[in-house]
Amino acid sequence: MIPNDFVQTLLARIDIVDVIDRAVPLKKAGANYQACCPFHSEKTPSFTVSPTKQFYHCFGCGAHGTAIGFLMEHGGKSFPEAVETLARDAGLTVPHDERPGERERRDEARDVTETLLVAARHYRAQLKDAPPAIDYLTGRGLPGAIAARFGIGYAPEPWRSLPWRFTERR
Ligand code: ZN
Repeated sequence: MIPNDFVQTLLARIDIVDVIDRAVPLKKAGANYQACCPFHSEKTPSFTVSPTKQFYHCFGCGAHGTAIGFLMEHGGKSFPEAVETLARDAGLTVPHDERPGERERRDEARDVTETLLVAARHYRAQLKDAPPAIDYLTGRGLPGAIAARFGIGYAPEPWRSLPWRFTERR
């Protein structure tokens, strides 16, 4: 999601007259600019662009909007694409809000991953200290290199070493 205050900053930074003039050449008419409307067919210009209000408005067909709206309506862009385009021209970087709960879910996933990595390291370390287990694996055709590659570990009796490992850490 693009934060609304960034959209406001962006609209204040750019000039809708420049943005529209690139696609539809505008002529100055008093305080505003005008052209034949790109959204409906006409011979006399009823499409106006206000530099003070930073809006375009067509008295013929009612088309109306900001520079972002123009890129969407005339350029066929989506809202994020229109914002990206204008931000690039203005030399700004679009910030993206995280959805609610996204950070928590990511932190939780990182915690789980971290915990599993600790567990995997722990069991691999146990294997190195257990010659009977190494002999067993070798006998089954799994030499050390393969055991290391596939992260094979060993749970020694009485199978409680992992909880101990985590309680030691605290
Ligand atoms: Zn129009």
